[in-house]
Amino acid sequence: MGKVVIFSAPSGSGKTTIVRALLERFPQFEFSVSATSRAPRGCERDGVDYHFFTHADFMQAVSENRFVEWEEVYKGTCYGTLRSEVERIWAKGHVIVFDVDVIGGINLKRIFGSDACSIFVMPPSVEELRHRLEGRGTDAPEVIDRRVAKAEFELTKAPEFDHVVVNDDLDEAVEQTVRILDTFTGPLR
Ligand code: ADP
Ligand code: 5GP
Repeated sequence: MGKVVIFSAPSGSGKTTIVRALLERFPQFEFSVSATSRAPRGCERDGVDYHFFTHADFMQAVSENRFVEWEEVYKGTCYGTLRSEVERIWAKGHVIVFDVDVIGGINLKRIFGSDACSIFVMPPSVEELRHRLEGRGTDAPEVIDRRVAKAEFELTKAPEFDHVVVNDDLDEAVEQTVRILDTFTGPLR
């Protein structure tokens, strides 16, 4: 078994931004491409951002036990970590990077135990979270309302993670993440 790094956060905290910065700097980390039953957004590409499944195909994969974990993250929309992704990335000797919702992150930590480092990306405030979601410009106002409402619950789960990184200043948050991973994987180059 190799190592895994789990990033979870309320949507809009800047988790994807931090993960991208990490992946650009350190080639030993590789992103686990999840499957989802939602439609692609903006310039998202199949097999790169997500494996885009129909709802029926997603449920077929569930029945075939092809997921390490999966969840209906938003009503009617499922997301899951494919076993094939875990095997593919470990076969290359890379460290897996998961970007999953808060419940998925807690579940993955339970599954991978001490081979996993779980990081909760915390927004400076709920107001700033809403501001970032509005600024990102990818979600309709009612979707933003749903994400903010969910954030209130998700924030209560932060203590269940190995580390909490507050993403106020982005560069500082990335540096703090690098320091955490330096300890977890051994010196990063
Ligand atoms: P998540 O993956 O957690 O949903 P994103 O990485 O998509 O969040 O970030 C949400 C929005 O906030 C994006 O528009 C991103 O550019 C912006 N953002 C990320 N980090 C910061 C930060 N430290 N300060 C201000 N804006 C940020
Ligand atoms: P989005 O629709 O904004 O891409 O993602 C919505 C939420 O689903 C995010 O919190 C994201 O981290 C989460 N997510 C993405 N992939 C997975 C996965 O494989 N499992 C779980 N549990 N959540 C996921």
